[in-house]
Amino acid sequence: MDLYAVLGVRRVATTAEIRRAYQKLARQLHPDLNPGDPQAVERFQAVSSAFEVLSDPQRRAAYDRGESVAVTSGIPEVGFHGFDFSAEVRLGGAGFQEIFGDILRRPAPPETEAARGEDLEQTARLAFEECFHDTRRRVHVVRQDRCPTCQGAGEVTLAPQPCPACQGRGEVRSLRGRMVFTRRCSDCGGTGTLGRRPCPRCAGEGRVMRTEWLEVGIPAGVGDGSRVRISGAGNAGRRGGPPGDFVLVVEVEPHPFYRREGEDLHCELPVTIVEAALGAHVEVPTPEGPVTIEIPAGTQNGQRFRLRKRGLPRLGQKGRGDLYVEARVWVPPVVDDASRELLREFARRNPAGPRRELAAEPAARKKA
Ligand SMILES: [Zn+2]
Ligand SMILES: [Zn+2]
Repeated sequence: MDLYAVLGVRRVATTAEIRRAYQKLARQLHPDLNPGDPQAVERFQAVSSAFEVLSDPQRRAAYDRGESVAVTSGIPEVGFHGFDFSAEVRLGGAGFQEIFGDILRRPAPPETEAARGEDLEQTARLAFEECFHDTRRRVHVVRQDRCPTCQGAGEVTLAPQPCPACQGRGEVRSLRGRMVFTRRCSDCGGTGTLGRRPCPRCAGEGRVMRTEWLEVGIPAGVGDGSRVRISGAGNAGRRGGPPGDFVLVVEVEPHPFYRREGEDLHCELPVTIVEAALGAHVEVPTPEGPVTIEIPAGTQNGQRFRLRKRGLPRLGQKGRGDLYVEARVWVPPVVDDASRELLREFARRNPAGPRRELAAEPAARKKA
C-alpha cells in the first residue's frame, strides 16, 4: 500500500499539503457519514493510517527509507479519537469540526490543550569492550522543534481582515439535501473579522521539522537493551506542552570468549589433566590483559574460580563485577607406548575410581 497514493499526494508533498488532502478525504469518507458502507470504512481507515504516518516527519522518513511503520489509528469508535484536531481546524476555509459538528453532536476535545512532545528513539551498537568505560555517540536526529515564526502557538497575529470562511458575514451556510443551515462562523467566532491566521511556516502545527546532531554520553556498564535518556531532547510539545525525551537504545555485540551476566563475566578455561591433578599456575585472559591464577591440586572439571573486580563497571554505581572462570579439564592424546605405560602405572597406584559408589548402589537397593 503506497501511503502517498492513498492520500493522493506527491512524494515531495509538504506537511500542509498532506494535511489538506487528508482533511478533504476524511470529510468524504467518515464512517458516520456513510452508514452501512464497508468500503468507505475501509478507505477511511487507510486514509487515517496514511495521514498518521506521513504527518509525522520521523515516521515519514522511516517509511521513505522502506522501513515498516506502526500505525495506531483505526476507526474512531467514540468521538474523534485518532484525529488530530489541532491540525484539522481552520485550514482551507471551513473546518472539520464545523462540517461534522452538528451532524455527529459529539464534543470535540479542546484545541487549546497542551500536549507533551513525543519521545524519539534510536539504536546504537556498541562493541563489547566499549562497555568498560564511558563513551559517546554522535547521532543524527530528525525532530520537531518549536516553530520560530509563531513561537509554537501555531497562529500569527495580523491586522484585522474580513474572515475568508464567511466573507465577513459572521455566519456560514451549508446545504444538505434541500435544507440550508445557517450557523455562526466558527473561524471568526461570528465576528466576521480575523486577527489571527494559521502560521504560514508551520501550517498551524506550532512545530517545524529540524535535523541535528546530538552528542550522547553513554555511561560505563551499559548492557544490551540499556536505554540512555536525554530529557527534553525529543519532539517539542504542542501548544506550550513540555518537550519529549530522546532515548538511545544500546545494543552490545556479544564476545566470543566472555559471557555477560549483569556486571559479572563468565568464561571457560581449558586445563590439562596434569594441571588439574597436581595444581598449576595458569594464565587467564581478562578484559585488561592476562592474569595468572593458581589452580589447586585436585581441581575437577566444572570447578569455578572467582577473580574479584575483573568484570564490568556497575552501571551508575561505584565498583565492578567479578570474572568467573570455569575449569574445563582437557584429556591429552597419548603419543607413545612409554606414556601409555605411565598412565597404566598411574592407574595401578591410584585405584580410587569415580564409579565405585555408582556400582555399589544397585546391589544396595536390591537388599533393601
Ligand atoms: Zn509557526
Ligand atoms: Zn467567519
